[in-house]
Amino acid sequence: MPPWGQRPSNGRAPIWTASRRPWYAAPMMPLTFGLTEEQRMIQETTARMLRPFEERRREFERVLREHGRVPDEFWTALAAAGLLGAFVPEEYGGTAMGLTALATAADAMASRGFGHPLFLLTGMDALCIARDGSESLKRRFLPQIASGALKFCFAITEANAGTNSFRMTTRAVRRGDGYVLDGEKTFITGMDQADYVLLVARTRSREEVEREGLPKTSCLSLFVVDCHTPGITRTQLPMRAIDGAAQWTVHFDGAEVPAENRVGE
Ligand SMILES: Cc1cc2nc3c(=O)[nH]c(=O)nc-3n(C[C@H](O)[C@H](O)[C@H](O)COP(=O)(O)OP(=O)(O)OC[C@H]3O[C@@H](n4cnc5c(N)ncnc54)[C@H](O)[C@@H]3O)c2cc1C
Repeated sequence: MPPWGQRPSNGRAPIWTASRRPWYAAPMMPLTFGLTEEQRMIQETTARMLRPFEERRREFERVLREHGRVPDEFWTALAAAGLLGAFVPEEYGGTAMGLTALATAADAMASRGFGHPLFLLTGMDALCIARDGSESLKRRFLPQIASGALKFCFAITEANAGTNSFRMTTRAVRRGDGYVLDGEKTFITGMDQADYVLLVARTRSREEVEREGLPKTSCLSLFVVDCHTPGITRTQLPMRAIDGAAQWTVHFDGAEVPAENRVGE
């Protein structure tokens, strides 16, 4: 009998193939679990970027704990390494490295005890703007994100809308050239450090959406909102989840955002 999975020398298909050939003898697709050449380069670049901070680890950790902020020098280094522009197309000053590259860099940082949530939040928000933002939004924000000039946070969670985001009630009501924001978001990481927040708000209430038989996902919109807009206040949550990045409840009380800051439809 020929070895498992091989045809007998007379060229005929062996009758035992279907019933007795073990599953692992079938031809298999080659799978590579190692890093690609590009990912290895990103690991090396990240390691090089971190070296000066590793030499001053205590100081880095002190700034995180005592000042509750990402050290400016670290943010500048992330930008210089091209990591803040990972989701920014090259024509807007980014490196367009993409998600796997960003994850590789974040992994390299975490394994050395470095990192900051605003790095990933800013990247995630940049991806939304790059994918669905108007040309004017892209030109206004993407180059500044890639260069490290702007930090972004993200606000979707509400006290009664955590895992189930459809329950959110924060409203964005059209008025003149803009929208008026009312409602409350909670657990918002880094609202005190960010320049802008990418906010998810309803342009129509959940009841209206249900009454009109619209899809659950409709009338939920994204807005790029200046964190220092009048009508926005914040209250720090008494939790110590992440060094250097506090969580906040953010109150929107008639805050205005220009209509052009809406991302997508
Ligand atoms: C440190 C920290 C930072 C955060 N930063 C941000 C931020 O920057 N921006 C932001 O918008 N939010 C942020 N959040 C909020 C976070 O996204 C929410 O906590 C998360 O979405 C879960 O919501 P919840 O806490 O209300 O839990 P709930 O939705 O109440 O869920 C509680 C538990 O029930 C489970 N559960 C829920 N529904 C079901 C179901 N149908 N079936 C089975 N199990 C279910 C969940 O898996 C979970 O284990 C942060 C939270 C933390 C802790």
